[in-house]
Amino acid sequence: MQISGQGALITGGASGLGLATARRLAADGAHVTIIDLSTSKGAEIADELGGLFVPADVTSVDEVQDAVAQAQAVAPLRVVVNCAGIAPPAKVLDRDGNPAVLADFESIVRINLVGTFNVLSQASAVIVKNPVDSDTDTRGVIVNTSSVAAFDGQIGQPAYAASKGGVHAMTLPVARELARYGIRVVTIAPGIMETPMLMGLPQAAQESLGQQVPHPSRLGRPDEYAALVQHIVENDYLNGETIRLDGAIRMAPK
Ligand code: NAD
Repeated sequence: MQISGQGALITGGASGLGLATARRLAADGAHVTIIDLSTSKGAEIADELGGLFVPADVTSVDEVQDAVAQAQAVAPLRVVVNCAGIAPPAKVLDRDGNPAVLADFESIVRINLVGTFNVLSQASAVIVKNPVDSDTDTRGVIVNTSSVAAFDGQIGQPAYAASKGGVHAMTLPVARELARYGIRVVTIAPGIMETPMLMGLPQAAQESLGQQVPHPSRLGRPDEYAALVQHIVENDYLNGETIRLDGAIRMAPK
């Protein structure tokens, strides 16, 4: 499906991978709507891109429903990219052997997994009412963001890995269900990408992480993620699949 002229909704679009995606899709001529937290730089970025910012928490049914309706009012919604997410470490046991705080586990799964499902289901309900794109027999494309942690999660990542494993696991059943409406669903599992989520680490830790990548031996660039989103939207035969974008890294236990 061509990108120019399509309505595109990007969650987490105020930072990192979502921001790079919003920039690339806008440059390709999409009408971009960004969903992010009210504390984010979403408004500024939407101004820069000539798009729309709707402050919303991806875990809220009402806020996401409203955001999807606002996106659809700008241009028929055809592209949805789920980038909102958090990655705080949370071990099973703390230093003193106490069990994890259950609410920490729940909030990571809620934002990364439940939030992704909330956005894709609310958006699908709108996309199915839009006409099929006659060139491609497609109504829309949904791109989700998993992580290599879904496959080789590290110590401290049980909640993050579980949430991202869930995003990977639901890709096929969701693609199968939405196929009859002409909606494709593809998930990207990034490796270690150069975004604010990672930039909080000391420089030495970032370099060491980069050196663990077989080739190219560096962190991934947000625009490399955005370029894959662009390809997924444009390649009508990609569906029901999770694509690793990771320079062949396989994460060590820690
Ligand atoms: P980031 O922190 O730069 O951006 C994430 C954005 O999501 C932020 O703007 C944040 O405000 C927003 N957000 C967080 N919680 C939200 C909520 N409840 N509702 C709405 N918006 C919310 O991070 P990033 O590195 O760009 O990560 C994007 C996605 O990619 C995440 O799902 C992350 O887990 C995944 N990922 C990142 C990496 C990496 O190395 N950076 C690797 C694998 C997967």
